[in-house]
Amino acid sequence: MKIRVNKSTKIGQKDRPKDSELGFGKYTTEHMFLMDFTREKGWHDPRIEPYGDLSLDPAAMVLHYNQEVFEGLKAYHLQDGGIGLFRPDKNIERMNASARRMVMPEMDAAFVLQALKELILLEREWIPKSEGTSLYVRPTMIANEPALGVRPADQYLFFIILGPVGAYYPEGFSPTKIFVSDEYVRAAQGGSGEAKTSGNYGPTLLASRQAAEQGYTQVLWIDAKERKYVEEVGTSNIFFFINNELVTPPLGGTILPGVTRDSVLQIARHWGLNVSERLITIQEVADGAQSGSLKEMFATGTAAVISPVGEICYQENVFQIAGGQTGDLSIRLYDEITGIQYGRKEDPFGWRVRIA
Ligand SMILES: *Cc1c(COP(=O)(O)O)cnc(C)c1O
Repeated sequence: MKIRVNKSTKIGQKDRPKDSELGFGKYTTEHMFLMDFTREKGWHDPRIEPYGDLSLDPAAMVLHYNQEVFEGLKAYHLQDGGIGLFRPDKNIERMNASARRMVMPEMDAAFVLQALKELILLEREWIPKSEGTSLYVRPTMIANEPALGVRPADQYLFFIILGPVGAYYPEGFSPTKIFVSDEYVRAAQGGSGEAKTSGNYGPTLLASRQAAEQGYTQVLWIDAKERKYVEEVGTSNIFFFINNELVTPPLGGTILPGVTRDSVLQIARHWGLNVSERLITIQEVADGAQSGSLKEMFATGTAAVISPVGEICYQENVFQIAGGQTGDLSIRLYDEITGIQYGRKEDPFGWRVRIA
């Protein structure tokens, strides 16, 4: 399919902040990619248009029944002046997996990659250049058929929007404080926890608000059934370096299969570390924090890459991890992954995809 391009007549007029003021998710670029799906025609009319409002019927099914899936990845200015993506095939594959879970149509992976490339190259001036900054990419699919009644829609819209984002750690890598929620849960077995679908996020806001009111930046989710196994932190996966074993909970339906999680596992195995995907209880974490056998705890995700945890609060007990300091393994993993992403390091796994 050929992508029709309708360039904005207002190029250069959109507010473009300094790299130091970027933050996360505050700005979008001047164009977006769109494509429609109907049962009769399949995916059709791929196009790049000036960025702007969508027109949706108030009965659009996404607004009522949450048939939505999305992705998050980044485009980077490479050290040699080129432009790179990091494992975009994993994001596209996961979007199709999320779509299957939500009874939404899958897309051709090669075509989605082509659409990503064309849009990003058109907006290449928007990729910030300072250390640690990037262009965030948000592919999204929604059910836009106007119909009330709970059933899978027959009509969908896929779009990709972009926005420059700042360095996550402008003042260095400082550990966060995490609140363990034993009141609310994020995902239960048989639910939609392993899909990146909007309905998973709204219900987490109340727990996040309560954590924030007590001075904590994120919520640590434990399993819905026994309320004892660690699952994720906020919208990131979680790792523990305990008794010289690097542990992360296994994917079992309730955990989002993070691209960063998979990258950390592969790198750590490549380095010869003792790595396990196994169940870990919040009690084991608390005990490890107290005895000192828990050397590091960190969250992983596209936005921050590696986010060290310095303190957890569980049932009103507060535990410091490694004296609230950032550990060596966290730093080493952060340097390795960002080094591959920005083209500063060798890429032994072939993860960097050069698009310019
Ligand atoms: C997106 C997301 C992650 C991290 O996935 P990455 O591919 O590493 O960015 C982890 N948990 C949840 C709930 C997420 O939505």
